[in-house]
Amino acid sequence: MRLRNKPWAEDYIHNHSHIVELNPYERKGQWQELFDHQQPLALEIGTGKGRFIDGMARQHPEMNFIGIERDKNVIVSAIEKLNDPEVHNAQLIHENAKDLRDMFGENEVDYLYLNFSDPWPKTRHEKRRLTYYTFLEQYQNVLKDDGTIIMKTDNRQLFEYSLVSFSQFGMTLQEVSLDLHATDDGTNIMTEYEEKFSEKGQVIYRCKASFTN
Ligand code: SAM
Repeated sequence: MRLRNKPWAEDYIHNHSHIVELNPYERKGQWQELFDHQQPLALEIGTGKGRFIDGMARQHPEMNFIGIERDKNVIVSAIEKLNDPEVHNAQLIHENAKDLRDMFGENEVDYLYLNFSDPWPKTRHEKRRLTYYTFLEQYQNVLKDDGTIIMKTDNRQLFEYSLVSFSQFGMTLQEVSLDLHATDDGTNIMTEYEEKFSEKGQVIYRCKASFTN
């Protein structure tokens, strides 16, 4: 996603502190305080322009959502979508998710979504893939014991790599779909990338995995 630099983005982010938590490291262990109701917490890493978190927050008022996005030029679109008085259960973080353990307490998160993560196809960039084992170590720490990782991608190589990475880490695969849209019951919320790729006829893969049986 190459976007033109938006010089106003930093100010825009700071002016929307009711949607973007500006001190996420100080919020560790206390994210539920930001929401009207204490209810299951879902985290999306690499939220992009926010279509998924916005749609999920509206579809699931019984859950709370947090989206992490490091690109200021992109997160502003997510802020625009969530800047709606009807949405009470979604917050954003403008940060790199590499230090997740410093932002979330142990067992603070119920669901972790990885949507169309950057594939980093070169072997020398393996460590940057969001399903590399060092990321899984962090997810294990912040997720509840029965928490779930839900991953969607159009990229077959990243999907296969991630299935292997989850398995090698000792995780349990709960669901593997090789064509999500063929079996969608109408509840799937599409991301911006998902819409773009599926319009081109590409298959969408999804898997769900947990750290316990
Ligand atoms: N999830 C969105 C979608 O499906 O439309 C965006 C997908 S885009 C390929 C990946 C996004 O993840 C980019 O916006 C990028 O800035 C963000 N991202 C990648 N690595 C990240 C990290 N370590 N922390 C936070 N955001 C990250």
